[in-house]
Amino acid sequence: MICPECRQPLSEKEIITSDNQKALVYECFNCGGHFVPPLIANLIPQVTAQDLDSVTPKNTYPVVPSVVCSVCQATMVGITDSVVPKNVTVYTCPENHGNYFPLHQLFAFKRAQKTKLQYHQLWGIPIKSVFTVLLPVLAIFTAITAIPFTLNQLKSSQESRVKAGELVSNPLVSPISPNQVVISFTTRVASTSSLKLILSGGVQIFPGAVTPQTTHIINLDNLAPATPYQYEIIINDKSAGLYNFTTPGL
Ligand SMILES: [Zn+2]
Ligand SMILES: [Zn+2]
Repeated sequence: MICPECRQPLSEKEIITSDNQKALVYECFNCGGHFVPPLIANLIPQVTAQDLDSVTPKNTYPVVPSVVCSVCQATMVGITDSVVPKNVTVYTCPENHGNYFPLHQLFAFKRAQKTKLQYHQLWGIPIKSVFTVLLPVLAIFTAITAIPFTLNQLKSSQESRVKAGELVSNPLVSPISPNQVVISFTTRVASTSSLKLILSGGVQIFPGAVTPQTTHIINLDNLAPATPYQYEIIINDKSAGLYNFTTPGL
């Protein structure tokens, strides 16, 4: 793949995301930019972003007229919504192949994201929409298939998995804060969905897709920090298996 900005070859780098999955990001040692697959930027730990962004560029490269996607070569557009501060530059592919962060912008974005989360935590203000801190929602859909199955998300009750609405892959758990995670997944065919959180005192149901769709995003809040949880995905009113996650610590 080539760098969206300076068009030099990118180097692959494996990282561990904040929910303990392996993911690849792409570094340009020429200009110091990073091409990051969809959603992954949301899950890069800040310390990893700092490390990635410590690349010293080889060249002060000539200004190129446009930033193009490393995957499809479409012109990438700058994100201008409230997710990205005005002094931070993040580009996105119109086909959702990923985000491009010019030199030092990945760390700047992560720092801004963390500050926003901390603000909500310190002031006790619930994050009404988790997407006020995450890069574009659409990115989540394509990311799910790009992330390999992981060992830490234990699967059980496999035999009870639903054939018709079958999950495309394991649910992706995105920690937002110690009290909040977002669980996203896709289904092979359009389906309704919900999530049953299994608690010592019973279960709590969280709504997913009310009308049949293939992309599902479920927001779980008011969770306890650093706590293991088990949950069941329900697709078309049938169990699609039990899964686990642990909330981040404070
Ligand atoms: Zn470059
Ligand atoms: Zn693209």
